[in-house]
Amino acid sequence: MTTATVRTRFAPSPTGYLHLGGARTALFSWAFARHHQGQFILRIEDTDLERSTPEAVEAILKGMQWLDLDHDEGPFYQTQHFERYKEVIQQLLDEGKAYYCYSSPEEVEAMREAARAKGLKPKYDGTWRPEAGKTLPPIPADRQPVVRFKNPQDGFVMWDDMVKGPITIANAELDDLIIARPDGSPTYNFCVVVDDWDMGITHVIRGDDHVNNTPRQINILEALGATIPVYCHVPMILGPDGQKLSKRHGAVSVMEYHHEGYLPEAMVNYLARLGWSHGDDEIFSRAQFIEWFNTDNLSKAAAQWDPKKLNWLNAHYIKQLSDEELMQAVLPRIEARGGQTDGFDTVAILNLFKDRAETLEQLADSAMLFFGPYQAADEALKAQVLTPDALAILADFKARAEQLDDWSAENLAATIKETLAAKAVKMPALGIPLRVAITGQKQTPSVDAVLALLGRDVVLARLQQVLSEQHIK
Ligand code: GLU
Repeated sequence: MTTATVRTRFAPSPTGYLHLGGARTALFSWAFARHHQGQFILRIEDTDLERSTPEAVEAILKGMQWLDLDHDEGPFYQTQHFERYKEVIQQLLDEGKAYYCYSSPEEVEAMREAARAKGLKPKYDGTWRPEAGKTLPPIPADRQPVVRFKNPQDGFVMWDDMVKGPITIANAELDDLIIARPDGSPTYNFCVVVDDWDMGITHVIRGDDHVNNTPRQINILEALGATIPVYCHVPMILGPDGQKLSKRHGAVSVMEYHHEGYLPEAMVNYLARLGWSHGDDEIFSRAQFIEWFNTDNLSKAAAQWDPKKLNWLNAHYIKQLSDEELMQAVLPRIEARGGQTDGFDTVAILNLFKDRAETLEQLADSAMLFFGPYQAADEALKAQVLTPDALAILADFKARAEQLDDWSAENLAATIKETLAAKAVKMPALGIPLRVAITGQKQTPSVDAVLALLGRDVVLARLQQVLSEQHIK
């Protein structure tokens, strides 16, 4: 890499939540800066006053925080840089690199129409562009001008995109871009240019929906005498059906994944693999990702969203949680369900479900078997499972279990074996009725563990209840 410090930025427009594509772009910019011991800058592009909201800013900051994509500078807000943009617009006007254009929007549309009619690219025709020896039209009364950048008319704009490779655009293709509106406010592309310049951005990593802006931005940067950053346009993310990822494919807001019970580690790992690879590695830590991240392995092709893979990764990271992390991640979800953890070995219960959950929400749902109100099996299930034979086996088990001094999973497992031997039956003949009797469900984690964690009193009371309902003592 170069000796200069790498400076990247994430520059979201706060018009909604932090979506998956934005988060992936942020992750790549962040990782590139971290890999090169550079700086990562957060810049909020809030100049579209009608569409930008403080709630969206908040949502973006929260999303970044959740993913732990820490920034070294910012957040900067473009709305706080208006004076600076105006100053640079004036500088370009003074240097003859920009000019006032008094054409009305209708006139410009007519020019574009005329170009189209001639089979040319629709463009502003340069009526107000000052040239040596050219006389400009009289300034119309009562009309506020826009400011246009005097784009070079000849030659080419070229850059070597870190993902797409060399790109060349003829200047003849490009309009004289409006850099200030009639009210003097700067336009989007111009603000980006000034900020990238002022912030000393060395690498612009962004979605490839911005690739058309790049030649325009490079021309303005050149007019300002700025160093041109390296550009890296990351391909978009497609849904499983090959269409651009959208709400139709499920949640697109990063924080929605938090609510659905995904871990930020899983999300970061998953997003990292969307358009980037390191051999066959699928599971890697944040530190490994920083170490490995380079732009050579960025894919030119669009990435495809794969919810199954995300679930697989999430299940992996859930299994890795320490007891403390597990409690922290799941307890609020139990509380939200009105669960009661008093008197339970909560850590042990959560661990019982940890290996089989794809999301924290699933884990919390399952754990409500303990923390929620007991829901007895419905009549149909009882009739199916709690047959007279089954009840006799349960009665045998209950009688033995009552004798236990120590209500441990090991002792309960041994008691189960004794009943199976005494009744000459196999595990399902006891396991299923036992589960149904004490949890109301046919499927639970290991039954001895469930019995141990529910506790002696609860288990015996529920067995008694089932047996007494059927008049067997
Ligand atoms: N504000 C732009 C967006 O949210 C990003 C601009 C850029 O990265 O240059 O799409």
